[in-house]
Amino acid sequence: MKYINNRNLYLENRITSLRLVTLLMLFYLIGYFLKSFFLFEKSFTDLISNSIARYITSVFSAIVSASALLVTYVHKDHLNKMIGEKYKLFNVLPYVIFLFDVLMMLLIFDVIKSKTFRLVFISILYAVCGLLLISIFKALYKQEQASIKQERAKVEQKEAEQKQKTAFKCVCGAGFASQKALSGHQGKCKIYKESKKQVIS
Ligand SMILES: [Zn+2]
Repeated sequence: MKYINNRNLYLENRITSLRLVTLLMLFYLIGYFLKSFFLFEKSFTDLISNSIARYITSVFSAIVSASALLVTYVHKDHLNKMIGEKYKLFNVLPYVIFLFDVLMMLLIFDVIKSKTFRLVFISILYAVCGLLLISIFKALYKQEQASIKQERAKVEQKEAEQKQKTAFKCVCGAGFASQKALSGHQGKCKIYKESKKQVIS
């Protein structure tokens, strides 16, 4: 951390800071949102004649497709652990995002002119995002259930331990883990001796 105080490296530290990366990531996401919005809006033109309805549909579709990719990517390792363990399915995600991005740009710049291709692409994009979101939900739900189960087991174990600790009880109310410990206590316990006297008399 010493170099952070070095004024000569101030700019370098700024450039490599997490905040800057986060900011750039945000810009990238906004870009992704706008690109997919453009494609969705274009694709819905024949379908939804009301422009307000078309914009709303496109905005939500674009939000879902932009955020699903980021959220899935952030949870990639977690998803691999929870549902794709065998095949490490989610490791291909960066390449999928890359491919989507390239195709999106090619469609926007009209390099790929086919309308059918655009419609197929946007349908696949949306379906993949839905699939990813469901996978995240499933993984997080599984994790939540597992942690609840673990927490419950902990509490039960603690209760059992507590019970074991006070399994042998003296009349005075003190509890002990073994008969030996109880006998040791009873040798000194006034209440116990008192109660024994009463029984005998
Ligand atoms: Zn006692």
